[in-house]
Order: sequence, then C-alpha cells, then structure tokens
Amino acid sequence: MSRILRVNMTDRTVQYEEVPEKYRFLGGRGLTSSIVYDEVDPTCHPLGPNNKLVFAPGIITGTNAPTSGRVSVGGKSPLTGGIKESNAGSGWPQSVAKLGIKAIIVEGYPKDGGWWGLHITKDGATFFPADEYAGRSLYEVYPLLFERFGKKVDICSIGVAGEMKMAMAGVCFNDAHGRPSRYSGRGGLGAVMGSKGLKFIIVDPEGGPGVQIANPDLFERGRKKMLEALRQHDITKPKGGLNTYGTAILVNILNEAGGYPTRNFREGRFEGAAATSGEAIFETNKRRLGKELYNHACHPGCVIQCSNTYYDEQGNEIVSCIEYESTWALGANCGIDNLDAIGKLIWLCNDIGLDTIETGGTLAVAMDAGLLPFGDWQGAIRLLDEEIRKGTPLGRILGNGAAFTGMAFGWHRVPGVKGQNMPAYEPRAIKGIGVTYATSTMGADHTAGYTIAPEILSVGGKADPRDVKKADLSRNFQITTAFIDSSGHCLFIAFAILDIPSGFEGLVEECAGVLGADWTADDAARIGKEIMEKELAFNRAAGFTKAHDRVPEFMKYEPLPPHNVVWDVPDEELDAVWW
Ligand code: SF4
Repeated sequence: MSRILRVNMTDRTVQYEEVPEKYRFLGGRGLTSSIVYDEVDPTCHPLGPNNKLVFAPGIITGTNAPTSGRVSVGGKSPLTGGIKESNAGSGWPQSVAKLGIKAIIVEGYPKDGGWWGLHITKDGATFFPADEYAGRSLYEVYPLLFERFGKKVDICSIGVAGEMKMAMAGVCFNDAHGRPSRYSGRGGLGAVMGSKGLKFIIVDPEGGPGVQIANPDLFERGRKKMLEALRQHDITKPKGGLNTYGTAILVNILNEAGGYPTRNFREGRFEGAAATSGEAIFETNKRRLGKELYNHACHPGCVIQCSNTYYDEQGNEIVSCIEYESTWALGANCGIDNLDAIGKLIWLCNDIGLDTIETGGTLAVAMDAGLLPFGDWQGAIRLLDEEIRKGTPLGRILGNGAAFTGMAFGWHRVPGVKGQNMPAYEPRAIKGIGVTYATSTMGADHTAGYTIAPEILSVGGKADPRDVKKADLSRNFQITTAFIDSSGHCLFIAFAILDIPSGFEGLVEECAGVLGADWTADDAARIGKEIMEKELAFNRAAGFTKAHDRVPEFMKYEPLPPHNVVWDVPDEELDAVWW
C-alpha cells in the first residue's frame, strides 16, 4: 500500500498519510499538479509559507518498465508565477517508489535559519542538520553524502543558487554514476526548496516493499510492447540516433531548418552549429579517447541511453552530459562555438544548481544588452563562477533569469513567455512550437507539446512548420504529454510510440497494469485533458489571461534570417488552444 509523505518545515515534522481515493490513479505530473491545485493558493508568493513543493515518481517508476525512472517536481513557480511541473530522470524517484511512497509534499516555512536534510529509509524519515554542506560545490558535496549515507542512496538537492532563492535555480538529482547532473531545471523550483530551508532529500530504498503491480499480466504485456517499440525505432534503438549522438543530434537538423536560435534569437542558423553538435561530441570523444563512446542511461533501466560524457584532450571528463538544450543555450544562443567551454559552462550550472536553459537565455539577453560581447565564453564562465555563485548584486540579477535581467538592463529583446525563456526552437521558423510556448501552462517549454516531431522530424506524421494553423496540433501534443509525464516514462519514448502504435498501447497497458485500472488509449487523452484543466484553472486563478498566451512583440516585427520570417500566428489561433 503506497503512502504520501508530508514534510512540515515549520516544525520539522513528518507524517505518512494514506493516499486519498482521488489520487489513486495518478502519478508523476498528474499527481503533482493535482496536489498543487488542491492545496496551494494560486495567489500565494512562490517563496512564502503557503507554497508547497511536491515530488512524485511516475505511475510505473520503480518497476522494470524500460526508461521509466522519472520524477515530477511541482509547485508554484517563482519564475512564471504559475503552476510548474519540472521533470527529471534519476534513480531517485525509483528509490522513492520502491519505499512505497507515492508523493512527498514539502510545506511550511522555517521558523529559524539553517539548512536541513531529510533522510528517508524503510523505517521512516528523519531530519539532519545540513549547514556544513551549504555554500559549497555540489560536485564536492555529493561524494561526501554517498560516503556518509551509503553508496546505494539517491540524492535530491539544491545548490547555492537554490540557497539564494534564485528564480533559475533547479532541483538536482544524481545520475546513475552519482554525479549531481540530472535536473528538474525549469521554473525555479530549486528556489522554492531553498525557501523551505531544505537542502537535501536522501533516499535509501534498501528493504522497501517495492511497487505493487495490481495486474502483473497486463503490465508485462504492455512492458514488452514498449520495449519492442523502443528497440525498433531508429531514434531510440541501441546505437540509434539518441544512443550515439545524444539529444544534441538535433543541432544540425534544427540549424538546417533555419530554426536554431542564435545570439539571443537574432538568427535561425549558427555558423558554429557543426562544431557544437552531437556528431562533434561523438567525434571529439573518439579522437581524444581513441575509441567510439556510446551513451549511457541517466538511471537504471533506461534502454534508450541518451546521456553522453564529454572528455578533454587528456581524457579527463569535462562534464556529463551535454544535452541539445544545453549545448544550444550556452553555445549558439550566446554565440559560443567552443565545445570545451560549453562543457565547462554546463558543469558550472550543475555545480551551482542552475537550469542550463534559463542560464543560457539569461547570458544571451545580457550579451544582447551589452554586458558582454556574444561569443565571450571566458566572460560567461566568470559571470557564473564569480557573480552568480557568489551572489554579488550582478549575480543576483542574472540568477533571477532572463526576464529579470532584461528588465534590469532596460532591454526589450527577451524571448520568453510567462517569464520563462524559450528553449532551442525558433517559433518564427516553426510555428507549432511557438503555439506551444505561448499557450503552455508552464511558460515557454518545448517539452509541454513537442510539435517539432511532425514539423521537423517527420515523426508521428508530417506538418508544415510554416503553417500557422497549429492550435489543434499543439493542444493534442500538450494533452498527450501530460499523460506521458504522469506515466513515469521519459518523454523520449514519444519518438517510438508516435510511429509504432503497439508502443502506445504498451504505455497504457503498463500504467493500467500497475494501477489495476481498466484503461484504453482514449483514457490517456481523457487523463491528459483533466491534468491540463487543473493546471489552466490554477493559472487563471493566479491571474493569467489570454494576454499572457503571447510570444514577445519583437518577434512580430523582426524578420528571422535565413528565411526572414516573422511571428504571424493570429492571436485567435492561440486563443483557440485553451480559451
Ligand atoms: S532517454 Fe535519456 S534522458 Fe530519457 S531516461 Fe534515458 S538516458 Fe535519461
């Protein structure tokens, strides 16, 4: 029987609660968004006593379903002011699920100062003082924690950015090798964790009851279908696109399409794309290590295995991993074409506790506003290491994200929606993803409804990227994504299940098998829609209107090279998504 663990940071008490019937068939994003909707006042200050931080493994997380070690972290976002679900892959949610915990709700507000860690085992949850770890490098602290609590624990933490409650602070989880490198990065939830005085949640799964599977036959049938689909599809199969080149395989593809935002969204093509692509990572590693290096899993049981490790000339690790979004944010978007420097910048983000997308977007806005020249990677490293890490006045401006930085520098070219900077797809060149950015409950977020699949990759059908009629496409993707984010599967399974129908059946059967639900494919859409409705209701109560579902004005009048396109999706098309 799984339970909910409620953690009160006002009096530092914990309580295990039975799972209410209304949450029985929920997990991951469906559960975090439902709890936030039910328990958090939408008008509360995100860093005040009335916000809550909710962690939920997906429905099938902790089972042997492939590629299913995902966690949803939810709360009211200090970056957007709306509801937030930020998703990461790690062994951490698998350990939580194996202890029979369906969600962890962190609430209250510390009465006194100091930092605390929470240690969860099969015997319960206890606090420990964590002041000795505060203000330090996460790469330095994680080995100390593994030494203290045992090699088999999993760690959730914030870095110094979260301690300083910066709006681009992420929540960090260890990868399969113990690195502090897997992030629920978007939306500043690390700052919410910091506001609660909570530095770590350390989970030891030893002796836990494991995940109960209500209908093992159905689950197994679904698991096999999913596994087969992932092993077949060219993008997800072993030594396929993601396993060989990682997510950065997208760099050359988006660059070719003229949709690769460059120098703070001034151009759609970057002259340094090839040098900072997934292919470049693979070939550079091969040259430096003298052998081909395929990617690894960010958590036990991922069969796609898209996480790379990047090495220097001496064969020493620079960072793991360089994602598409990160090589873009800290590369093309800042005009930086030096892969070693990009690796170092990603390492710094991991070490300080920052979302790489918002960090790159912030540096790009600052560069555009004149703080640094585009391409100045030494200056970018200095801003992260000397200003943000140390919390100088400039560091605190930058640490609060691109919109805050744009305001501080009086700069109007801030490519964000609802306060969150856009990721690595240009909405002027690819309209559907722009519709998702504009209308997502999360602010500008590609993962909320990845229309790039049909618009650019010809996955799940084909859609003309310049066609402005994208309300239906974006809405359908957003609804389906809300279900996948609840399942516990990594979103990258979508490549396979969009093209292989039995893979989608497998997804539904795995979830129904664990829960003992009587679900069909139609239920996936129903559940996704219900999740979206709660998130939309929260945001409307928080003050969001149609006027917030818009891309920045400069995109309407600045043509984007090389295709010289502007944002021309009518407002009525945007309003047709949810209003
Ligand atoms: S596909 Fe990549 S990001 Fe997704 S779970 Fe596997 S290793 Fe992690």
